[in-house]
Amino acid sequence: MMIVDAIRRAQRQYPVDVIGLCRDLGISVHEAYLADDVSGELVPIAGGHYQINVNASHPKTRQRFTIAHELGHFVHHRNLIGAGIDDDRAYRSTNAGRYHNTMIGPAQETQANRFAANLLMPQHLIDRLQQEGKRTPNEQAYALGVSRSAMRIRLGVSEPV
Ligand SMILES: [Zn+2]
Repeated sequence: MMIVDAIRRAQRQYPVDVIGLCRDLGISVHEAYLADDVSGELVPIAGGHYQINVNASHPKTRQRFTIAHELGHFVHHRNLIGAGIDDDRAYRSTNAGRYHNTMIGPAQETQANRFAANLLMPQHLIDRLQQEGKRTPNEQAYALGVSRSAMRIRLGVSEPV
């Protein structure tokens, strides 16, 4: 399935179906026992497919953001993935994981974070929540399955760290 079509389908309702999106793109998602400082990994597997491993001990909201962030790398940086990418808690390529991918720098991490924010908190769903009377950042965070801090950053209420 084309990526834009798959994204549109995943964003029909809230919370955005990030696992269904991965499935539509042929990416398998696994909860894994990763080092505490590692949020997730994007790893090439057999047959030209990819797998996302997400830290099993992290909260669901963080796991959703991690999966969306790794999808951002899949969409934008597929030629840089090499043996794999892993992300620390701040979504930076890390020595704490199995892969230290030096091709992925701050610009790529920012791009993946922006992709994740727009995927999980698209403007049309924020508008729908407003119309349904869910107007506070906390109500919207709950409805969209994201952390309060991610929601506040997306809404411009607070600055990214
Ligand atoms: Zn990353």
